[in-house]
Amino acid sequence: MNTLLILSYLIGSVTFVVGLKMLSHPDTARKGNLVAAFGMLVSILATIFLYGHHGEDYSTKLIWIFGGIAVGTIAGWITAKRVEMTKMPELVCLFNGMGGACAALIGLMEYGANLGNTMSLATIVAGMIIGSISFSGSIVAFLKLNGTMNKPIRLPYYNIINSIVMLGLAAMSVWVVMTGQPESMAYALFGVAVIYGLLFVFPIGGADMPVVISLLNSFTGLAAAFGGFLYDNQVMLTGGILVGSAGTILTLAMCKAMNRPLSNVIFGAFGGGASGPAQDIEGSIKDISIYDTAVLCNYANKVTIVPGYGLAVAQAQHIIHELEKTLEANGVEVKYAIHPVAGRMPGHMNVLLAESNVAYEKLVEMDDINPEFPNTDVVIVVGANDVVNPAAKNDPASPIFGMPILDVEQAKHIIVNKRSMNAGYAGIDNHLFYNPKTSMLFGDAKDVLTKLVAELKAM
Ligand code: NDP
Repeated sequence: MNTLLILSYLIGSVTFVVGLKMLSHPDTARKGNLVAAFGMLVSILATIFLYGHHGEDYSTKLIWIFGGIAVGTIAGWITAKRVEMTKMPELVCLFNGMGGACAALIGLMEYGANLGNTMSLATIVAGMIIGSISFSGSIVAFLKLNGTMNKPIRLPYYNIINSIVMLGLAAMSVWVVMTGQPESMAYALFGVAVIYGLLFVFPIGGADMPVVISLLNSFTGLAAAFGGFLYDNQVMLTGGILVGSAGTILTLAMCKAMNRPLSNVIFGAFGGGASGPAQDIEGSIKDISIYDTAVLCNYANKVTIVPGYGLAVAQAQHIIHELEKTLEANGVEVKYAIHPVAGRMPGHMNVLLAESNVAYEKLVEMDDINPEFPNTDVVIVVGANDVVNPAAKNDPASPIFGMPILDVEQAKHIIVNKRSMNAGYAGIDNHLFYNPKTSMLFGDAKDVLTKLVAELKAM
């Protein structure tokens, strides 16, 4: 490998690490993304122009390569530009699936050329299988996020079926690699892995999706790392390992947040814990006017805002910051309570609130804010539902039973803003809305908060 190529890969690897580090804070995140993208560009161009071509005529290949890059760039650019902020989680999921598909295609292409070399075959098959699972699993996750596939699909004995398919896939891979089976078997493995990816994500219940999404993310990284190993390509290896390990850390963090052991995810037992009929809801709901909400908040010492997916739908992140500033100007202490799975992608609320320049210190994680609720005068829940649903704590029949929630019930007053009595992502009723301390402030979040801020300013 020539020195310039090694140097380019070094630049690529270093920018990935630096970029990832910069992503850890909203102030530097945008720049971090650009730094890593620059490194990626250098690595791609270096691979195309500096990789050893041994004197062969390369011009036709270049046309194919740049043709492919042009199609991919234009499609990716237009999609990313056009996508609404609320559809971002689906897009990220789809892009992740494409990464998995790339790794699977690399495996299918390289299999035949490496017959006879057991080590290479093992690398190829591992990358191909993990990439295929990530590809088909991400497509199902995409359909679940955009609402096309609303309910989990659970075949009878799905746990057992999934485990059998997974073990069968592992055994078949070992056999294919050890005996150097012909290329057609690589296609068969690919097919079974795609089916396993579908079976793996089909049964996952609504509220458990975040864990699966981050797991699929780490799968794609791992599959890419196998590609880097195969081609002895350091930058591909570094990139893959970074995505794989970051995804794994996120998966473990999500598991902890959702109170689920990782083994349940892998063996497909997820979301199947609900048993018995759901508890009946007693009591009635009561409305509150904008004026009364303004009075309540204005005379409070401590207000905590709980943002959820509805905040993203309404694009109310700027006006909520305005609400925070208005209350603070009136001497009220304001904090945001951030649930790890609020919204539709990990860190969704952090990204949304960073967009409107809410100070990072004001975002308080679930474990830190929960003990503060008993001393909180008013909680304003904006477009959040599942993450404040007490059924997670006290209804064993609920599909979200066991998931830690924000304990807003402990606060003195709870105001819930949403448009109707519709359920959240997990599709279940919420007893919180019937709590005597709760008042419902119906309407689109942006509209309601705009009026609330005007009312507060007029006081
Ligand atoms: P939910 O999906 O539980 O609830 C969102 C609520 O927002 C709805 O009840 C809806 O009620 C309301 N809403 C929608 N649009 C508006 C609007 N314009 N103005 C006001 N309210 C609105 O959201 P949460 O954030 O509480 O919970 C996230 C859920 O998504 C969890 O179940 C989580 O497991 C799941 N999930 C999370 C992922 C992640 O990585 N974070 C990934 C995949 C799933 P209404 O229609 O009545 O207005």
